[in-house]
Amino acid sequence: MSDTLYDVLIIGGGPAGLTAGLYTSRAKLKSLLVERMILGGQVMTTTKVENYPGFPGGIDGPDLMMRFQEHCQEFGLETMTGEVTGLVDKGDEKIVTVDGEEFRTRAVIITTGAEPSKLDIPGEVAFTGRGVSYCATCDGAFFRDVPVAIIGGGDTAAEEALFLCRFASKVYMVHRRDELRATKVLQERIFANDKIEMVWNSTVEEAIGDNSGVTSIVLRNRRDDSTRTLDVVGMFVAVGVTPKAHFLAEILDLDAEGYILADSDCQTSIPGVFAAGDVRKKILKQIATAVGDGAIAAIVAEKYLDNL
Ligand code: NAP
Repeated sequence: MSDTLYDVLIIGGGPAGLTAGLYTSRAKLKSLLVERMILGGQVMTTTKVENYPGFPGGIDGPDLMMRFQEHCQEFGLETMTGEVTGLVDKGDEKIVTVDGEEFRTRAVIITTGAEPSKLDIPGEVAFTGRGVSYCATCDGAFFRDVPVAIIGGGDTAAEEALFLCRFASKVYMVHRRDELRATKVLQERIFANDKIEMVWNSTVEEAIGDNSGVTSIVLRNRRDDSTRTLDVVGMFVAVGVTPKAHFLAEILDLDAEGYILADSDCQTSIPGVFAAGDVRKKILKQIATAVGDGAIAAIVAEKYLDNL
């Protein structure tokens, strides 16, 4: 076990985690942010962020997150790459296991976010990376002048459908209902785009393909139960997100969907353990709300440490 006793250990380096780290390091708390992959979180796979205040005309997701990182560096936030697998509450001290090594800290802020949900249909796993993708921003450019499908009707599906129009010859937007969940401004752009064809009231039953990858998907119409085959070489899945909190299920209170239950001060069921951003059960998941959560969690953690 490391000898160092941190004041705050932040798990996850998306907008919520980086904001928490900015606040705690600026408050001169000894802080460590642990990120499993690359700093920036889900925003790193977003082409253009249009609704984060202060950037009229929008800003590319990676550019925005680079600014977050630079801002944290200004205050000397310590970061490391590693996967957190355990959290033990020992009262005034918590033990966090990162890649098998134990770290001591007085408070923990969990900002692990969420990851794209799966459809759980035949062919999905077999063709992941060979036609099935969960990130149009990452993989869209591989699908030039070919037909693709985007599955889902939320903001992510709408943004990804519009992005895919830059490359694909045709984009089918397959949605299980007859109206989109996405915000009106995105809906208007979808309906005005000639390359996008809506496939309403439909779910995907199977992804079919050969050695080269996906060749078609089988759809079922939920109204009349009929099936049809859609000839596409790409299937982009954007059917919502799953919170990354399963490794904490035994120690923290989660809801049925796996989100961490925390109050409006981001305080979880364990004193000194806070949850912020998309991993916390809340009404709105946006960069702006993740940032708000990160700031609240940091300030409340600071007060908690003052009171110890
Ligand atoms: P979401 O809002 O939960 O939408 C998921 C979509 O997938 C819904 O249309 C849902 O259908 C559909 N769906 C769910 N399970 C399905 C299944 N098994 N088969 C077929 N369709 C299924 O998820 P999201 O679009 O990823 O967005 C997540 C959060 O991030 C939201 O709060 C969103 O507002 C936010 N976000 C915001 C922006 C932005 O502000 N620019 C961009 C991206 C995401 P139903 O509609 O029938 O439930």
